[in-house]
Amino acid sequence: MKKIAILTSGGDAPGMNAAIRSAAKFAFYQGIEVFGVRRGYKGMVDNDIFKMTSSDVSGIIDRGGTVLLSARLPEFKDPEVRKIAAANLKAHEIEGLIVIGGDGSFHGADLLYKEHGIKVIGIPGTIDNDIIGTDFTIGYDTTLNIIIEAMVRLRDTATSHERTYLVEVMGRDAGDLALYASLAAGGDGFFIPEAKDTVQDIADVIKERRAMGKLHDIILVSEGVGSAYEIGNELKKIVDTELRITVLGHIQRGGSPSAFDRVLATKMGAKAVKELMAGESGMMICSESNKITTKFIDYAWNGIVDNTQKRKDIELAHILTK
Ligand code: ATP
Repeated sequence: MKKIAILTSGGDAPGMNAAIRSAAKFAFYQGIEVFGVRRGYKGMVDNDIFKMTSSDVSGIIDRGGTVLLSARLPEFKDPEVRKIAAANLKAHEIEGLIVIGGDGSFHGADLLYKEHGIKVIGIPGTIDNDIIGTDFTIGYDTTLNIIIEAMVRLRDTATSHERTYLVEVMGRDAGDLALYASLAAGGDGFFIPEAKDTVQDIADVIKERRAMGKLHDIILVSEGVGSAYEIGNELKKIVDTELRITVLGHIQRGGSPSAFDRVLATKMGAKAVKELMAGESGMMICSESNKITTKFIDYAWNGIVDNTQKRKDIELAHILTK
């Protein structure tokens, strides 16, 4: 393998730069030429592809976002559009492609391989931690820490004014961010897609907490269950508490990646290059029980979801919110 390309696609995630850096530096070390594709699949179609040098990846390990820029290109579902993208890669004689993104981005990569024979390796980069097959995705840990910090700050004002805060966090259909932020920062309740807590359940918790003399509540709302404003309206009807809503929004995605995300991204970036060098394709890099492994890329959407541990953690979180 003489020439590879790297792109980032879908929502940006802190640690993507660390993965780009590691993949590029490891490839340079192996004598492989590295190309950067700007704005994900959009740049591939627009032929926005450039040869990377070591200066492109210096000083980026601690930067959030992605220096390669990211974009969404729904048209990439069209085989004719993928044909243009594949032709552009081939014109640069690029044989291997590393795609850093979520499962949508992996779908695009899988099709490039199946239809055009481009060797692809996916690296899971999304704050949502929603890719089947890997324990962790790049960016998740940083975002979790941002949410925890926000909860700590909100708690001061929540206690001082004896309020209930509903804090809406990201995660798409996965409740990991809300659940583990609750466990890590002592949340007082949560609405996540994987648990069936009702507004009445949370109202009961709030009442119990008041009876115990507790002056405030921090309740996490995962975006996958709906809007915190709508849930707040329902809650107000059945419990007498001063309610405030905070939607953390894109604050959750920015900033310097955590040590965990940097190390994870660095290991995954190098592993992706190793896989391409070994002639592998259609694979994704995973982190399982602290080991860096690989799985077929379609495991990200066809794989078996094992929620055994999550269910236990939900049970524990319910006990600890009381
Ligand atoms: P995140 O969920 O973290 O934002 P993602 O990679 O899942 O990351 P998507 O917006 O789902 O984000 O996908 C990113 C891009 O991947 C899309 O804009 C599109 O270009 C491409 N893509 C997504 N799904 C498909 C598909 N089924 N076929 C081909 N390309 C796809």
